[in-house]
Amino acid sequence: MLYLCRQIETKLMKNKFYKEFGELLTKHFPYKVQKISINAGFTCPNRDGSKAVGGCTYCNNQSFSPGYGGKQRTVSDQLKDGIAFFSYKYPEMKYLAYFQSYTNTYDSIDKLIGLYEEALSYPDVVGLIIGTRPDCMPDELLDYFAELNKRTFLIIEYGLESTLDSTLNFINRGHTHAESVDAIEKTAAKGIYTGAHLILGLPHETKDQILAHADEISRLPLTTVKLHQLQLIKGTVMARQYREHPDWFDLFEVDEYIDLCIDFAERLNPDFIIERFISQSPKQLLIAPDWGLKNFEFTAKILKRFEERNTSQGKMYKQ
Ligand code: SF4
Repeated sequence: MLYLCRQIETKLMKNKFYKEFGELLTKHFPYKVQKISINAGFTCPNRDGSKAVGGCTYCNNQSFSPGYGGKQRTVSDQLKDGIAFFSYKYPEMKYLAYFQSYTNTYDSIDKLIGLYEEALSYPDVVGLIIGTRPDCMPDELLDYFAELNKRTFLIIEYGLESTLDSTLNFINRGHTHAESVDAIEKTAAKGIYTGAHLILGLPHETKDQILAHADEISRLPLTTVKLHQLQLIKGTVMARQYREHPDWFDLFEVDEYIDLCIDFAERLNPDFIIERFISQSPKQLLIAPDWGLKNFEFTAKILKRFEERNTSQGKMYKQ
């Protein structure tokens, strides 16, 4: 299947430890809602030379090769397949079109708006989630999103990855943390739900520096936060760096990572929703770490550990 579907996690056990994405959905929708991931065929300014060449060092180059994934399918076709997959089991379910792959605000404004509106006009689609880079949000597009936000559910997710410029530079992100702050503040000022994505465990970051990301983002007007462990992917610059300089990397064992996530959550603003703690790259592309855990198994483990530690999100949050 060309589309990716990520099941919005249902409660496995009572979670009194951190704010889940489901809380936001319940506030808006009286029915089950599922994200359908869309690859709208965009590229990325960090690879086409407008920001940088080569891309972020952890990003899989293969995905940018011409013809990768075969012929680009339309937004409607991807929604049709995604919805067919879920509606069979849950006929009452509605959907959020999640523009997830690459930089989903990087094209002409007319083309972008056309694709977003195509998704929104698809039957049973009740909102949009747009993933992008902090340096790819022109004012004109943000004005469109501000209007859109009045008529539909909308989240704009920014890939921050780190709050340290030294790390952003090292991983060739092509933007600074100040640009991330600016994009988040401008987006939230329009009343739009704003999300941040961070990678925990990037090269040369110490545990204290990783946890300091929680303090730094906690002061920003965010609604959602997504975390994931550093994954080494075949064919990336980082995979080569790992072969040549393994001492630059500190890849976590799963229990170590769980404790790191809980430490992070303790310092995080208790109003933020923690949408996820891990990500899973396709097994055939993953070098390490390979924990062999499904999302729900990880969630069960982290909830158990929160309980053992008798702690919760925001417990160490300093305003
Ligand atoms: S991670 Fe995102 S911003 Fe970086 S090269 Fe890949 S698509 Fe571009």
